Parts: sequence; structure tokens; C-alpha cells
Amino acid sequence: ACSFQSITKSFGPTPVLRGVSLSIADGEFLTLLGPSGCGKSTLLRILAGLEVQDAGSVSIGERAVDGLRPKRRDVAMVFQSYALYPHMTVASNVALPLRMRRLSAFQRFPLLGRLLPGTARTAAEIDVEVTRTCKSLGIGHLLDRKPGQLSGGQRQRVAVGRAMVRHPAVFLMDEPLSNLDAKLRVQMRAEIKELHQRLGVTFIYVTHDQAEAMTLSDRVAVMLEGELLQVAPPQVIYADPDDRRVAEFIGSPK
Ligand code: ATP
Ligand code: MG
Repeated sequence: ACSFQSITKSFGPTPVLRGVSLSIADGEFLTLLGPSGCGKSTLLRILAGLEVQDAGSVSIGERAVDGLRPKRRDVAMVFQSYALYPHMTVASNVALPLRMRRLSAFQRFPLLGRLLPGTARTAAEIDVEVTRTCKSLGIGHLLDRKPGQLSGGQRQRVAVGRAMVRHPAVFLMDEPLSNLDAKLRVQMRAEIKELHQRLGVTFIYVTHDQAEAMTLSDRVAVMLEGELLQVAPPQVIYADPDDRRVAEFIGSPK
């Protein structure tokens, strides 16, 4: 499980998160849905440790992770921009989290590093994992390309692969499909759903696209101006919105 307790955050005088509390079950697909600027990315970034809340607490698994560096949290994030390294090949982009882990293990335990399972893998083991992951995402034939030589959908898969090799307990996806054309979005949406079922881990997904939220999610958290208005399964949100503002945003008949 994973949870936010009374998270507040301001940038300067402007409150961006106004006391957000939310618990997400193990293996759940939860979507944060809300208009541009409502605070979705800020909330994800706080969970990932890329931003620090003003007050409140976040936990991942059963432990509070406040103050832990991003690398020490059991999460991986796929960004809207994909954040791939343009000078590195697909294989190197996907391998990066494993290579960094290998390096830091060697620094901490110069001799033991190589023997500790999970912390440090040999270069050959990393290659095997990277190849297997890329094949499972349908980009196994692109390992030697650079991001500039890929389509948008292929880049998106590379970003997912880089998150997957860490085997995180929680997958964070911040509008991962927003750079894609309409047709590819629908196709990739199905792939993300399948990935969630295959991995069986918690997904927290951010979007301002209602159709995406409705088809993918176990529950949807509707967010507006730094507050959660309603958290419920998609059909409940649609058929029985708590609030006029939710109904308006969802375009439900009520
Ligand atoms: P979008 O759908 O457009 O990505 P969002 O819901 O992800 O929007 P956030 O990126 O969380 O929104 O931003 C929420 C608010 O906080 C916005 O008004 C934004 O301008 C502001 N904000 C975010 N990051 C910073 C920052 N580093 N400094 C100042 N203001 C910021
Ligand atoms: Mg955002």
C-alpha cells in the first residue's frame, strides 16, 4: 500500500496542494484526474521524493518515506517528456538504473558489491535483463538506436522499460501518453493496462483525459485546485458524482 496524509504544498504564496489524503491498495490502478495546474504532477513528485511537501506525510509499503532520497524509495516514474538521454542508445537508457545501482553498490562494498543479489549485477546480467525487458515491450529490435531515431510511441516504451528494470513496488506515470497522436494513445492505453495486469504492482497514473482514466482505473481521484473532490471507481464517479464540479469535469449526465 501507499498513502498520502494531509499533504500541503505552496510555491511562494500560492497553495498548490491543500491537504491531500489518499490511500492506495497494493496492486491497485489509481488515476489522478484533473485539469491542468490542479497539482497532479506535484503530488506524484512528492511521492517520488523529487519535491518536498510543506506538511503531511507519505508512505510506501508500510513505511513513511519522508526525507528519503528518490533512489531509496521503491518507486519508478515515467515522465510526460520521457526524459531519455539523447546521446545514449535505447539499451543504455534502459540499463541506466541498473548500472547506477551497480556503481553505488561497488562504492559501498568494493568486494561484496558483486555478490549481493539485487544490489549489483554483472554487466552481462544487466544486458540480459535489458534485452528481455525491451523484447517484452516490443522494442527488442531497437536496442542500438538513439532516442532521436525513434517514434513517439517507441520512446514511450523505452521510458517504461527504464522504469520496469527497477522492479518498483509502485509505478508512477505522469501523462505518459500526452505526446502521442489519438490513435496511438488508444493503442498504448491498452498496453499500459496489460502491463499493470502482468506486473501486478501498484500504478498511480496521472492524466487530464477522462476516457483514459475511465478505461484504465480501479479508482479515479478527481482533483481540482489542490484538493481531491472524490475518489471512487470510474462507474461511480460517472453515475453518481459527489459534487457539481466533479459532474461538470467528467461531463456526466447528472
Ligand atoms: P498539468 O496537467 O498541466 O501537467 P498539473 O496538475 O500536473 O498540471 P502541477 O504541475 O502539479 O499541475 O502544478 C500545479 C501548480 O503549481 C501550477 O499552478 C504550477 O504553475 C505550479 N508549480 C508547479 N511547480 C512549480 C514550481 N517549481 N515553482 C512554482 N510553481 C510551480
Ligand atoms: Mg502535470
